[in-house]
Amino acid sequence: MNNFIERLLAAQYCTLLFSKDFSEGAIFGFECNDGWANLIEATLRLTRQHAEPKALDVKVTQAKEKFGQLRIYHSGSDEIIGSVFEIAQLASGCICELCGNPGEVVSLEGWLVARCGKHSARGHLDPIEAHIADEKYITSYVKAVNLMLSFFGEGAVLWVQQERTAFAGRRPCEMLATGEGCQTIFTFLNRLEHGVGV
Ligand SMILES: [Zn+2]
Repeated sequence: MNNFIERLLAAQYCTLLFSKDFSEGAIFGFECNDGWANLIEATLRLTRQHAEPKALDVKVTQAKEKFGQLRIYHSGSDEIIGSVFEIAQLASGCICELCGNPGEVVSLEGWLVARCGKHSARGHLDPIEAHIADEKYITSYVKAVNLMLSFFGEGAVLWVQQERTAFAGRRPCEMLATGEGCQTIFTFLNRLEHGVGV
């Protein structure tokens, strides 16, 4: 991940990423490409939201790409925060690791990687444009996952993996790849919560 994004994330989420005696300008070392930066930021934001009220000292020890998915290793979390990381792992397989557009896990030269259509062509590795945190996406993702967790608890991890007739047979983890998809999930669960027929 490029240093600029590393610094943005380190500055905002230093309590999750570093021990207390970290030095200014420290680099965490995310072992993945920049297309997952927004997903990572949304996940760190959710983690902090759930950790602070319970005074949990959550530390992310490693974040890396493995078999086309984002794996986040951590300590000090509870089941709900564990679910946040598992949902991120499932969503990452539906987001191009290079550009952040919707994608899927494909086999590329013997490796499983998450790529969009454009980047799944062999050897296609254009440098991506400068990263700008997509606050609208991050906010939508955080809202959708929070509502899922309040609805299903740890069951949200299973819920996102199953095809849903309410979403025309799509799996919620695929929909978490876009702001619109996150919004659709939020609207659906919000209506359920308020007992409106769906
Ligand atoms: Zn791509």
